[in-house]
Amino acid sequence: MKPQKLSIVNGRRTTIDYDSRTREYQTYNRTRWRYNKETMQFYNSSIWRKTSKQVLLANNYVCAVCGGEATMTDHIVSVKKDWSKRLEWDNLQPICKACNDAKGSWN
Ligand SMILES: [Zn+2]
Repeated sequence: MKPQKLSIVNGRRTTIDYDSRTREYQTYNRTRWRYNKETMQFYNSSIWRKTSKQVLLANNYVCAVCGGEATMTDHIVSVKKDWSKRLEWDNLQPICKACNDAKGSWN
């Protein structure tokens, strides 16, 4: 007999195979949560605040995309794609909120 676990399916208590899809989703969500936590911790870290401010200052707060007023620092290669580049100067550019929001879809 396969390992079973109790679950609620369509409002009813039922036992399902422990290795069924539900477990895959749970593992996926846990991994995603961990990634988000690490990312959030990074964005809240003093080293990121310091580096991001330096990028803005070095570029006179000019958005690298539209030339408007940059209010934040953007990762050219996102931290999601390459975590190791998160503090690399060449991977950082000043960006305004509008461009950053627009980038979200293709980042
Ligand atoms: Zn912009």
